[in-house]
Amino acid sequence: ALLIEVAERLQVSVRPTDVVARIASDDFAALLDDIRDESDGTRVAKRWIAALEEPFRVGEREIFLSAKIGIALSDAAHEDAHQYLADASAAMQRARTKGDGDYEVFDRAVHKRSTQRLRLETDLRRAIDQEEFRVVYQPLVDLASERTIGFEALVRWRHDHRGFISPVEFIPVAEETGLIVSIGEWVLRTACQQIAEWRTLPDQQSLTINVNYSARHLRRTGVVDDVLAEITESMLMEDVETQLKVLNDLFEAGIRVAIDDFGTGYSSLSYLRRFKVDTLKIDRSFVGPADEAAAWDLVRMIVALARGMGVTVVAEGVETVGQKLRLREIGCDLAQGYLFAKPLDAAQAEEHLLQGGTHSE
Ligand code: C2E
Ligand code: MG
Ligand code: MG
Repeated sequence: ALLIEVAERLQVSVRPTDVVARIASDDFAALLDDIRDESDGTRVAKRWIAALEEPFRVGEREIFLSAKIGIALSDAAHEDAHQYLADASAAMQRARTKGDGDYEVFDRAVHKRSTQRLRLETDLRRAIDQEEFRVVYQPLVDLASERTIGFEALVRWRHDHRGFISPVEFIPVAEETGLIVSIGEWVLRTACQQIAEWRTLPDQQSLTINVNYSARHLRRTGVVDDVLAEITESMLMEDVETQLKVLNDLFEAGIRVAIDDFGTGYSSLSYLRRFKVDTLKIDRSFVGPADEAAAWDLVRMIVALARGMGVTVVAEGVETVGQKLRLREIGCDLAQGYLFAKPLDAAQAEEHLLQGGTHSE
């Protein structure tokens, strides 16, 4: 009885020449022939939504319904009705997941992005099992002595047939899907084993390793008992109380914490005070524009601030000798960047250490 009532309400909102059909249990579709543009479609959608918002009376009962509507416009590439229905259904799914608004017009670019993302997620799961990841190591350089004092571990993904995929692309997907936990654990274990091995080389007993940690990962304390952790500023913004505890526990366990990409994202000055942060990494977007006086004033102030609080500073993305000299002048302790070294694979990094780990001529 309810379905009949729904069908009747839908029918009165369209022209007599349009087709309305029930195509599955509570799925309806309409074919609006000969419309001028998108707005004709959205107007009908709005009318339908309004019509269905009115309560239904079935027997003694009053029933409230809501609907989500997907709209597909005519497309020369489509050869049959199924393709239109598939587009409309994809748009409807989107209206459903977006939450705001009750209808959505199919958009090929959006659809492509979301299917690509889905594929990336599937491939990411497989990549963990098939060990398609590896870790590269970027030297962390003491600016005074120009020697490598440690490394930052950075993950690399060599996809089966797509080749190299940047962490900038897949880390956000891994974070959203929770896969970051297994990837992060693998990176952590690999990097720690590696650093333990390198520490046995001559003069390398105090070599350090930085591992990038995502918010998701930091909610689980168990895995990080004996390592140095490095976290990004954006992560500090969510769920502060839990993370405060986790960070303090890490600190108690002798694990140092660095804020990555400092200066980007939200203001994190208050967090510097609240969390036991050991190191600040100045984002390379500040270090990069060496010629702009204003940018350098900012770097200088961050360094002064950090030193005043007893926090170590690392400059990220150092690419020129000019930047290096100025950083040293303003009292920055450590640096990373292409000037010294790109991220190296394990064999290259080991070779670098065996040569003394120096960068100055
Ligand atoms: P990040 O932690 O800030 O890492 C620094 C990025 O800057 C790295 O890019 C590095 O290769 C690049 N870089 C280093 N020196 C220079 C330079 O002189 N110039 C320029 N233009 N770039 C430089 P990468 O390896 O592509 O990593 C990008 C981001 O992906 C990282 O930013 C980090 O947020 C994330 N990421 C990488 N590996 C991991 C991981 O194992 N776990 C997690 N959770 N995130 C990771
Ligand atoms: Mg980092
Ligand atoms: Mg960074």
